[in-house]
Amino acid sequence: MKNNKLLVLRSFSEGGKILIAAAEVTPIAKVGGLGDVIGALPKALAKLNLDVRIIMPFYGAINRNKYKIKLIKPNIKIGAETINLWQTNLPNSTVPVYLIEHGFFKGNEIYSTALADGPEDREKFVFFSQAILKCIRAINFKPDVIHLNDWHTAAVATLLKTDYKNDRFFKQIKTLYTIHNLANQGKTKTKNYLAEGILNADLINTVSPTYAKEILTEEYGAGLEKILQARKKQLYGILNGIDTDFFNPQTDRLIKYNYSAQALKNKTANKQTLQRQLGLPPDKNTALVGLVTRFVWQKGIELITEEFSKLNCQFVFLGMGEKKYENALLALAKKFPNKFNVQIKFDEELAHQIYAASDIFLVPSRFEPCGLTQLIAMRYGAVPVVRSTGGLADTVNEKVGFSFKEYSAPILYKTLNKALNIFYSQPQAWRRLQINGMKQNCSWDKSAREYLKIYKKLLK
Ligand code: ADP
Repeated sequence: MKNNKLLVLRSFSEGGKILIAAAEVTPIAKVGGLGDVIGALPKALAKLNLDVRIIMPFYGAINRNKYKIKLIKPNIKIGAETINLWQTNLPNSTVPVYLIEHGFFKGNEIYSTALADGPEDREKFVFFSQAILKCIRAINFKPDVIHLNDWHTAAVATLLKTDYKNDRFFKQIKTLYTIHNLANQGKTKTKNYLAEGILNADLINTVSPTYAKEILTEEYGAGLEKILQARKKQLYGILNGIDTDFFNPQTDRLIKYNYSAQALKNKTANKQTLQRQLGLPPDKNTALVGLVTRFVWQKGIELITEEFSKLNCQFVFLGMGEKKYENALLALAKKFPNKFNVQIKFDEELAHQIYAASDIFLVPSRFEPCGLTQLIAMRYGAVPVVRSTGGLADTVNEKVGFSFKEYSAPILYKTLNKALNIFYSQPQAWRRLQINGMKQNCSWDKSAREYLKIYKKLLK
């Protein structure tokens, strides 16, 4: 028996089969951090010799030719419905990506609302979850672990524990459920998909050690703290990384001037280019403060008030989401056009240009499971000013940036002002902050090894 166990473990680490199921995969279809994680973690897992594959919906907006997507299995039945299964590789890798085609995913939007859990979303992602299990049987790919992500795929854990419980094909399959954001739950009056995922998955993790602790409390638990406490022993916190090839100021093709920690002059050239492009006064000596995010309650947009126009800097905000936040920022830009520039859209290229151009980068979130923008900002030499919560607390210390605890506009103002004072009066100390941030290792390699440990635990 003991020997058997060893055998399983050995063969697992040398080619264990992992199926990662998610609603977003960068660069194929992205809304936020979930996409970035699924676009990068599998590549790091593949380097650890795992047979890792991804499954996602085939959204209408996905470019079939650009990603060379091929039909591999037509006419898979799910009750009265029929789906087609397509396949490509994650760009710049050999990781297979399966895409499920059905009328539910035809629309161009990944989610129907900014909060990603409208009624249409629930119907379509529950269908996605059912389809995942039908597809793997249809292509006879039996993973050791199905790695589920957020509420969109949570129903898979429930199906395996109920409808498929005695099915020989699925019996051995274990699940890991990663919570990227507890705020979006896929909730109806009678059901809560995220809660079901927490209860039915074999192991659970979230995307930073601090958030893993925070969500056990009433303040951060979003109503699920009790069930999370009940599964505390199966709950892990693993910090996200970023794709350090995709986000690399030395090679990034989306920015005008490439640069490195040793040669930061070109960073200033990027700032002047962006100032001109957006119509801000082109002044290389004025600090540029950037922010790229979904404009939703979580992100602390409301902390940026008219008062901030008094600070000696320019702001550039890129994002989209809830109208009230978009309008509040647009009003600032209208009133102070030389100070605030606001771009309401999703624009990967502009996002990279903002990271490259900014001296300071804001992340004033109410809560933040991990947060990727502060990691990307640091890699581009933009010094982060963040609220110390969740993954922001785990990744930004005084060697690389500035943080504040209390969620309030005056405290954010004060912290930003402190950063600006150092920017203007202590250039050497500033340079040190930038270089420390740029040298911080935020690649996925370390975290991928943590995920491997969890996959191995599942097979014990
Ligand atoms: P979340 O997952 O809550 O959206 P993260 O910080 O984890 O937040 O990840 C956000 C990711 O989405 C980053 O890669 C960021 O650059 C990107 N992003 C967010 N909004 C936009 C936008 N409007 N245009 C381009 N990229 C965006």
